Amino acid sequence: MDTLSSAPRTVRRDARVALTLASVIALAVFLIDALTPLDIAIAVLYVVVVLLVASTGNRPSTVATAWGCVALTLAGFVLSHDVNYSNAAVARCVVSLLAIATTSVLTLRNLTATTTLHEQLELLDLAHDAIVAYDMNERVTFWNRGAEALYGWSAQEAMGQPIHRLTQTAFPVPFAQIRQELLRSGRWDGELERVRHDGSAVVISSRLALWRDEKGTPRAVLATSNDITARKRMEAELQRQREELRNTIDAIPGMVWSSSSDGRLTFINRRWNDMGVTLGEGNTDVWPTIVHPSDLTKMQQDWRTAIDTGASFENVSRIRGSDGVYRWMHIGAEPLRDSTGAICRWYGVNTDIEERKQAEQALERSEAFLLDAQRLSRTGSIAMRLPDGDMWWSDEAYRIFDYARDVVPSMELILARTHPDDLAIVQGAYRQSIGGAMHVDVEHRLAMPDGSVKYVHYVAHLAVPAAEGIEYVGALMDVTETKRAQEALARSTAELAHVTRITMLGELAASIAHEVTQPIAAIVTCGDAALRWLNRPSPELAEAQQSIAQMIRDAKRASDVIRRIRAMAKKHDSLPATLDLDEIVGESVELVRRELERHRVEVQVDLATPTPVVCCDRVQLQQVLINLLMNGAQAMSEVNGPRRLSIATRRFDARHAQVIVQDSGMGIREDNASRLFDAFFTTKAEGMGMGLSICRSIVEAHGGRIWAESPEEGGARLQFVLPVGETCDEQ
Ligand code: ADP
Repeated sequence: MDTLSSAPRTVRRDARVALTLASVIALAVFLIDALTPLDIAIAVLYVVVVLLVASTGNRPSTVATAWGCVALTLAGFVLSHDVNYSNAAVARCVVSLLAIATTSVLTLRNLTATTTLHEQLELLDLAHDAIVAYDMNERVTFWNRGAEALYGWSAQEAMGQPIHRLTQTAFPVPFAQIRQELLRSGRWDGELERVRHDGSAVVISSRLALWRDEKGTPRAVLATSNDITARKRMEAELQRQREELRNTIDAIPGMVWSSSSDGRLTFINRRWNDMGVTLGEGNTDVWPTIVHPSDLTKMQQDWRTAIDTGASFENVSRIRGSDGVYRWMHIGAEPLRDSTGAICRWYGVNTDIEERKQAEQALERSEAFLLDAQRLSRTGSIAMRLPDGDMWWSDEAYRIFDYARDVVPSMELILARTHPDDLAIVQGAYRQSIGGAMHVDVEHRLAMPDGSVKYVHYVAHLAVPAAEGIEYVGALMDVTETKRAQEALARSTAELAHVTRITMLGELAASIAHEVTQPIAAIVTCGDAALRWLNRPSPELAEAQQSIAQMIRDAKRASDVIRRIRAMAKKHDSLPATLDLDEIVGESVELVRRELERHRVEVQVDLATPTPVVCCDRVQLQQVLINLLMNGAQAMSEVNGPRRLSIATRRFDARHAQVIVQDSGMGIREDNASRLFDAFFTTKAEGMGMGLSICRSIVEAHGGRIWAESPEEGGARLQFVLPVGETCDEQ
């Protein structure tokens, strides 16, 4: 502002100086003219006064000054001469008046022209654009207010300066090219970068026009410029935002697109290009080239419907990638409407759902597998949420309980199907669940409406300890058939055990006969002896009594043997009892002693003290022991050296007692070792191969384990362990 307002002040000061000077000159001229006898046309110098006043540009003052000078000239003439005017004096006065008049007229005319010019310049100053004129040496000759505002230099500062150096102009093309164009066509326009007075950069849009004089010589350049820095910045920002948007759209993990209101693709993002698809002139329908032929018709139908109705577009199709492999994609698009509601374009995105689709298919498959597996294995699933007891049953669970698929599963329904004798088991399991047990494992029966009984095995575990409660997920297995098979198997095993016992007794017939006949023979002998003692003249009663006591012992022995054999031969159900293990071992050895002697086997018995007590069926345990002893004896039948058979009992660990039967026979071949306990495995010509198999069933049914070893010294070592227990309840 200072720069702009200082110009009029300077002008006013100059005007004052000029007026003062003019007044002094006018006074001096008048005094010389009026008071001195100089015969010269001094009044001509009034011209200077007129010129000085005219230089202030003030027209009325100039006119007044001109008339004033005329008056002063005439006054000076009158005062310096008496009534005798010489011709020369009059001529000098006229010359002076003519000079003043001519100068005044010319000056006034010039003043008028100058005023017009000033007014025009004022108008140029009013322009918002920066208007600068410079000569062919780039020196500034005109600098309007717009230029002052734009560049920061005042007109005074800028005048005469080389414009391009002053403003450090940066040209978009070489300067010589601009100059050439200007000289050729008289015009140039373009964008220039300049530096303002305050050092800030400015971008301007500049229009140059060349002015030539009447001879056609280039004289000056008129430059009209305006500041486009803000516009440029906005354009750059717009461009940046556009690029950012583009990058964002390209980064979206989907195929983004837009289309015209009639469905022609107008834009696709980089994902499409990555898939080998590009949009070109006349290439706006790329769908047929990328959508799987089997999905194309439906996709196009859906698209057409969306365009016609303006509804959102949704479709799932396979789309081919650049590798030629089709992937499942969800294609979706939404319309963009104008203020009247008419659709102006569509925006869409194709999202890769291949993995989700595969997961869905895998889920469907595994659901189908699960259903099949549940049906085939007769296993249902039950999930139960506590404490409210909400339940979910699988189809197979409904089938097992025999309820219609539409009933709401509940604990009441399960209890309604539970066998009356097993209600306590089921209720106990439910209480366990409510108590938060990690695992629930129960077996119970169901009483079905048709009167049949089903056996089920329910196993569940705590799955989700969620905030709102706990959830059990479990499997309900229909084990009726397994149960029946087990029962049948147990029955046949018992039958088989009986048969093998009978067979075994058959094998033992000779020795049994001996066992029985031997005490009977002894009874006969003792009877004879007793008779003899009694028939004496003086009967020897004491001796007879002794013989009779011996007879009773022998008879008992015989009846014991017969009792044992009868027990072995009898068919009976398993009757577990608390037994003294050593006693059973002793009895069994007694039963086969004759047979062992027949095979010339040396028996060694080594019993544990204190004797272990086991809970067993006596006959079955004897069967196992006799089997092992007989097998040992048979294994040594080919042996020429000493045939040693040892039987020992001992404590195996805190909870088990062990029985070891070891022989010095031919031993077990390595390749037979794994099959020894299989049913029907035998290496004997007359063998059945059931002995050891039945031994294993018996031992395992009693909670024990049986196995064979090959000791280093040769022969075989068969051994088994049984749980110890003072009472059978402990098992
Ligand atoms: P079987 O006596 O009818 O063959 P087992 O089941 O009692 O049936 O025995 C199966 C097989 O095990 C025998 O044929 C025999 O090969 C082998 N075996 C059993 N005990 C012994 C043993 N103490 N020493 C060697 N082999 C044995």
